[in-house]
Amino acid sequence: KLDVVERFARRLGASVDDSVLHAVSGVDLAVAEGEVVGLVGESGCGKSTLGRMVAGLLTPSDGSIQWRGTDLRDLPPAGRHEANLKIQMVFQDPMASLNPRLRVADIIGEAPVVHGLVPRREAAEAVAEMMRTVGLDPGYMRRYPHQFSGGQRQRIGIARALAVKPDFLVCDESVAALDVSIQAQIINLFMRLREELRLTYLFISHDLGVVQHISDRTAIMYLGRIVELAPTPELFAAPNHPYARALLDEAPRVTLEKRRFAPIRGEIPSPLNPPAGCPFHPRCPHAMPRCSQERPDLREVAPARWSACHLNDTL
Ligand code: SF4
Ligand code: MG
Repeated sequence: KLDVVERFARRLGASVDDSVLHAVSGVDLAVAEGEVVGLVGESGCGKSTLGRMVAGLLTPSDGSIQWRGTDLRDLPPAGRHEANLKIQMVFQDPMASLNPRLRVADIIGEAPVVHGLVPRREAAEAVAEMMRTVGLDPGYMRRYPHQFSGGQRQRIGIARALAVKPDFLVCDESVAALDVSIQAQIINLFMRLREELRLTYLFISHDLGVVQHISDRTAIMYLGRIVELAPTPELFAAPNHPYARALLDEAPRVTLEKRRFAPIRGEIPSPLNPPAGCPFHPRCPHAMPRCSQERPDLREVAPARWSACHLNDTL
């Protein structure tokens, strides 16, 4: 079995207190080195919150994020700084996340110089190399973000993340804002970079087709909890959890690229006031009396397959 190198998100969050919404609860997810884990769910389910916690942009109120076996909070400052560089985030909207007043050379070159990874006099060469790595012409490094197309801007965002030599990328809806044909190019870029740079990904998306294409394992989130986690081919072939089944059954099967969430009967409850027991019980066609009282734990229901549903007790 693989040495688990990145281990994080152990029992994050709690419930709701007076003023704070805890978007994520009871998550326990380990990502192995070189693996791509897809995290899918409807908007508001807490997947971005989880991604930001992993990337160190949010601190869990309870629980821990572990990096190479150590709780981030237990690392000495230098170690935490290193972990912060080794885990980078690629955002959804490059226009919003790239400073419009900076030239691409500065957007990509700033962090490695500031963090002492590249001497300032070698910054231009480092930027050129990063641009080539993501398929951009280094001749354009003096340009500004608005002078590029959406797909090129996302490549700039990826180059910026890669410039500090990360091992782990948290991609939050990183292709969602792009046209389908450009999406495919950026997904192929992520897959090539995975091989070339030996990267590990947490790939957050609301798009089932994207996640099916890129992920080794898929985690499905509902109202702040992971309800199913399994190797991607097995999960898509035979989802265990009723929520996962509903998602996959109702998604149009025309093309994988178009396989997005379809509406499931019933409203999504407010994450501020999640239902007692199983959070899916108000919408679940298989709900039993105990489902509104007892919360099912995520547990291994078959080798490497995890699901949080009481139905598995009766098998
Ligand atoms: Fe449905 Fe009950 Fe399973 Fe929840 S625990 S998904 S309500 S059957
Ligand atoms: Mg989001």
